Amino acid sequence: MHTPMFSLEVFPPKRDAPVGTIYDTLDGLEGLNPDFISVTYGHGTHSDRTATARIANTIHGEYGIPAVAHLTALYSDEAKINEALDMFEAAGVSAVLALRGDYIDGEEPVGRFNHASDLAAYIHDRKPDLNVFGACYPEGHYSAASLDEDIGNLKIKVDAGVTHLISQLFYDNDDFYRFLDKAHAAGIDVPIEAGIMPVRGAKSVRRMAKVNASRIPAKLEALLDRWGDDIQNLRAAGIIYASDQIADLVAHGVDGVHLYSMNHPATTRRIWRNVEPLFTVE
Ligand code: FAD
Repeated sequence: MHTPMFSLEVFPPKRDAPVGTIYDTLDGLEGLNPDFISVTYGHGTHSDRTATARIANTIHGEYGIPAVAHLTALYSDEAKINEALDMFEAAGVSAVLALRGDYIDGEEPVGRFNHASDLAAYIHDRKPDLNVFGACYPEGHYSAASLDEDIGNLKIKVDAGVTHLISQLFYDNDDFYRFLDKAHAAGIDVPIEAGIMPVRGAKSVRRMAKVNASRIPAKLEALLDRWGDDIQNLRAAGIIYASDQIADLVAHGVDGVHLYSMNHPATTRRIWRNVEPLFTVE
């Protein structure tokens, strides 16, 4: 039996947030020793494109934890991608998570990377020493006609040089197991980490589910109905829900769990306290 991986995700603080907030987040995660922490990349006009590299550098250099830098393709030309890759390399990242990114209303994409697979192939060519990770969607990406079509495209991404996949959030593990069966049947044999997003508010769950075209199962709907207006109890129930999902995933022998910690270290710690023993048994 293998020990599953456990990784976390953080995002750069908004431009107007105090610089120290990311340190508060990372200090709050100290002692958890995840296999890596990934840092998201904002590709909007107003995002600071150097933030991901700086935070990855801090995670790796100051906290001694392997860092994975996200990078999106749609709104970067080759020069910007090269610049980002050089920054990531200098920051000592363990891998780059190659993403397409979402289309932004009113902004024309630039460059020649239309799919994450184009970016993955480019990174693989230009920086052969950098590991390239990719995203996957247990319920299918919202723009794909079907899960099967999406998995066909995922195979292209893996063949382009992606060595590790991290999944979109999902709330029903059966969706993830069905996806795994299909991915394996399609010949996708790289590790696939299951993405878990703790519930922290009814509105945000419903919004994310809508944006990502993900299903809210009856079991979660009951929590939202019962405690939608009672944030403390909803968050407490959300910690139990996420811990329960993780226990079931580990029992099913998944390769790893990626917790969308969303810069909320207290929630992350409480979940980790519940599930840690499951990650240490050989
Ligand atoms: P792709 O793999 O390119 O897939 C997008 C769509 O195109 C799918 O429908 C797919 O089936 C189709 N497709 C893929 N390849 C082909 C092909 N060769 N031919 C035809 N069709 C194809 N967004 C950010 O802005 N910043 C982040 O840091 C960030 N981090 C993320 C981390 C994770 C783990 C996940 C799951 C998502 C993240 N996102 C992030 C969101 C992501 O950018 C969006 O979900 C985006 O819509 C798709 O990105 P992708 O890399 O999965 O795209």
